[in-house]
Amino acid sequence: MRPEVLNPLFAESDTLEGVGPKLKKPLEKLGLTRLRDFLYHLPDRFVTRRSIDSLDEGSEGEQVIIALTPTEHRSPRNPGRGPYQVLAQDSVGNICTLTYFGRASYTAKKLLPVGEKRWVAGRLDRYGDMLQIVHPDHVEKEGGANLERLCEPVYALSEGLTQPRVAGLVAQALGRLPQLPEWIEPSQLDKEGWPGWSDSLRLAHKAEHSGARDRLAYDELLANSLALLLVRADNRARRGQPLRGDGALRDKLDLPFPLTGAQMRSVQEIEGDLVQEAPMLRLLQGDVGAGKTVVALMAMLIANEAGKQAALLAPTEILARQHYETLRTMAGPTGVEVALLTGRDKGKARESILMGLLDGSIDIVVGTHAIFQDSVAYKDLALVVVDEQHRFGVAQRLQLASKGKATPHTLAMTATPIPRTLTLAQYGEMDVSRLDEMPPGRQAIDTRVVAQERLAEIVDGVARHVGAGQQAYWVCPMVRDSEVADIAAAEARYASLKERFGDDVVLVHGQLKPDEKDRAMHRFASGEAKLLVATTVIEVGVDVPAATLMVIEQAERFGLAQLHQLRGRVGRGSEKSVCLLLRGSELSETGRKRLALMRETQDGFLIAEEDLALRGGGELLGTRQSGDEAFRIADLEQISRLLPAAHADARLLMERDGGLASQRGEAARILLYLFERDWGVQLLRGG
Ligand code: ADP
Ligand code: MG
Repeated sequence: MRPEVLNPLFAESDTLEGVGPKLKKPLEKLGLTRLRDFLYHLPDRFVTRRSIDSLDEGSEGEQVIIALTPTEHRSPRNPGRGPYQVLAQDSVGNICTLTYFGRASYTAKKLLPVGEKRWVAGRLDRYGDMLQIVHPDHVEKEGGANLERLCEPVYALSEGLTQPRVAGLVAQALGRLPQLPEWIEPSQLDKEGWPGWSDSLRLAHKAEHSGARDRLAYDELLANSLALLLVRADNRARRGQPLRGDGALRDKLDLPFPLTGAQMRSVQEIEGDLVQEAPMLRLLQGDVGAGKTVVALMAMLIANEAGKQAALLAPTEILARQHYETLRTMAGPTGVEVALLTGRDKGKARESILMGLLDGSIDIVVGTHAIFQDSVAYKDLALVVVDEQHRFGVAQRLQLASKGKATPHTLAMTATPIPRTLTLAQYGEMDVSRLDEMPPGRQAIDTRVVAQERLAEIVDGVARHVGAGQQAYWVCPMVRDSEVADIAAAEARYASLKERFGDDVVLVHGQLKPDEKDRAMHRFASGEAKLLVATTVIEVGVDVPAATLMVIEQAERFGLAQLHQLRGRVGRGSEKSVCLLLRGSELSETGRKRLALMRETQDGFLIAEEDLALRGGGELLGTRQSGDEAFRIADLEQISRLLPAAHADARLLMERDGGLASQRGEAARILLYLFERDWGVQLLRGG
């Protein structure tokens, strides 16, 4: 249970003064539902105002504070239309207008009596030949409380909220901070010179304060690392089923290629885990095309050799189907029974698969989350392979534990090339196998950066390519905030390409009905359609070796890891492949460097490390990259700078006090609840 001292922080937002049903919605949109959310709604930036003596000193667009004396109030000629204006004079007689729209005019009447000097803070603009300040942020009498505030926070807003509103709610939340014990190692605090928790929150909302921001980010990272290590400890203490394969099934495989050194090493590492009593918890990291599938198959066959079942969980139906086809073909000579189960299977077909899982006649099942539904029961599930599910949660794993006789072994696979520090942040509880060697014979992909304006030429190029009997992908950008707009853009592009290519082009996006999507994918995979227009749904896994050209529109909007994964769809066959990155006209310097990096290398892990270095902390690009999603406070730069220390700190604490029973352990529990990593604590109690 949550420590009592935290209860005030988890009170609902409507316990704040001024929050009623009307405000709740826009607040929820920002993720602000409980007091703690307000505390951690840190300012995006601060406005800094300059105090000026006369209007001559200010420049247009500048944030200023200035003493003005109102000389005249002007109501709009038509009441209710046009702004309410107050003319005001500075110390040397220059005039400017203070402009108010709508209901704000009532405020203006009260705040700005004619002939009385007021301090006004706001943005100086020009309207016609008049200087004006629209809706001043503050109007104060001499000595007013806000006069000293040359620096003010700027918060992320949603419609229906204003800066002062959010600031006021944050201030209320800050007024209710409980006294919490310190969870950071004192020597670490001293070394960094960080303030305590409550001071850090207050400071972080008041002004740029890197120490306070770092401390709060560190808290989040520490909570995360601790939780992951608790999972690891819990896993060690669990009983799994040791799996010993005799090689009988694997020997029957008739692979068209020898395994690479990296694949063999990974299989060995997995085999070493599987014979242990403690369930395996391993991540198989390997770039697109590195050959993870066959490693997964080997692992599953070991389970089958030991007389048990294995399951492979894929993120989408398309991928589940593709894995199913691949595995069934590869495993053919072994005689093991491979089945596919997705949410779409209904009626008799579904019943017979469920039977097979229950009576053990199915050895390997491939599917989407449907394979773990309550209605699905296994005879003896001993290994679960999880493909591309970032943060396959502890909750899911616990649910799985109830499926097998014992906790199943878990092998997670990812092609997302993330930097080492982020691997630690995301998969810190796992052992890692890296496929750092590509199968032989892979061709380099010729990558070029081309201006989007040259679209017509590019379409001609695609036509020549298709005319020569090859296939191509055309990727439209995906901006997270508006899937609808993205799909509209993809549909428009599809429509225009269809005029040229007719039935040779198909469209795939996230809102198609599953069977429409399948039909399109199938037409493309079978070679019947030549051009596939898609949003990023083709990002992971799709394998069509005859596709040798990829066009990516507005490439600068994608994360580099994402671009890399997209590009990995081509270059899979023996033909030379080309990737065209179309760039918009407004490309930042960093944007230019990032695309250049894509042109220069094909090493996903190098790209990931360089991308992190290039982006630093500040620049937020269209698409957030996976890896940082788990964190709301810490940004990428802070993660890479602070995570190693946080992780080491967490490890030390676990070594000294794995039960979190000491005084500092108690504080650490509070931290876990504060950041809602309480599943860590729950495991602690369970174990
Ligand atoms: P990943 O899932 O890691 O992106 P896949 O498992 O889909 O990669 O493998 C990509 C392609 O490489 C497949 O066509 C596969 O058959 C082939 N492949 C895998 N391992 C080898 C190998 N050792 N030698 C040659 N080809 C391989
Ligand atoms: Mg794969």
